[in-house]
Amino acid sequence: MKILDGKLVSQSVKDELKKQVDALIARNKKVPHLAAVLVGTNGASETYVASKIKNCAETGFKSSLVRLNEDVAESDLIEAIEKLNNDEDVDGILVQLPLPKHINEEKIINLIRPDKDVDGFHPQNTGKLLLGQPTFIPATPYGIMLMLEHYAIETAGKHAVVIGRSNIVGRPMSILLSLNTNPGNCTVTLCHSRTKNLDNFCREADIIVAALGKPGFLTADMVKENAVVIDVGITRVPDATKKSGFSIKGDVDFNNVAPKCSYITPVPGGVGLMTIAALLKNTFNAYKAKHGM
Ligand code: NAD
Repeated sequence: MKILDGKLVSQSVKDELKKQVDALIARNKKVPHLAAVLVGTNGASETYVASKIKNCAETGFKSSLVRLNEDVAESDLIEAIEKLNNDEDVDGILVQLPLPKHINEEKIINLIRPDKDVDGFHPQNTGKLLLGQPTFIPATPYGIMLMLEHYAIETAGKHAVVIGRSNIVGRPMSILLSLNTNPGNCTVTLCHSRTKNLDNFCREADIIVAALGKPGFLTADMVKENAVVIDVGITRVPDATKKSGFSIKGDVDFNNVAPKCSYITPVPGGVGLMTIAALLKNTFNAYKAKHGM
């Protein structure tokens, strides 16, 4: 069994980006600029945004944060996004999800300029992804593809089971694995909350991507020998032994599943770190497209 080390792979992606940013600085060029919009004070969202900003700094990117109150009027959020859309210095925009209930999330995502949509959630970019055209790939599935590529994991002709059909993880993951690319070329089964006999699909899978948000859901009896297991889940579980009062759990019962796998991602230290590296890569790609590089 081999651990797919998100720390190591994300660092190599970031090192490569930093080299390119250093080369820009040496030529007195502008550096890539990622703007984040955070509405409210949700603890997990605060942590994610802080981590994205820290990673921008480490890689030499410029970042900015637009903070809005939980009860912000939708029109004010729209105005903030339009400002970023029109700001020539901003290369990538991300709106941290989820948004408060009174805000129409779809409307907000559709408003982000597709060429600055580094989360890859705009319908125009989703359409390109579906067609296998170059686009911004949502960061979590993109990060997983970079991980599979780094470890040269054979995917062609393999049966991949993706658990979860969200627009940000499961569905784009299932599309990417099915494309005629490397990694890719899998036969994909997309499972979700209404799937019957999910265990049987998993037992037949060469590759399992668990993205449902239920701690420890994937157990050893659901996994065949030598499967590749990718754990996307991040759930905060109360833990009195931790200073924060919680620990982070994945969707895989790691201790019992790992011995059966050929490769497995840990939580933390796996997909989460790759997600941020992929977001930075998308931002750099937005910068390059804008500057004709
Ligand atoms: P979501 O709640 O939007 O979607 C969950 C999906 O799981 C749904 O499609 C649902 O049909 C499916 N599902 C729920 N219960 C199921 C069951 N019992 N059997 C089969 N399918 C079931 O969640 P999401 O945004 O896709 O996130 C999923 C998990 O991944 C969460 O834990 C989230 O925190 C985590 N996540 C991690 C990263 C990362 O960077 N590692 C990024 C995004 C999300």
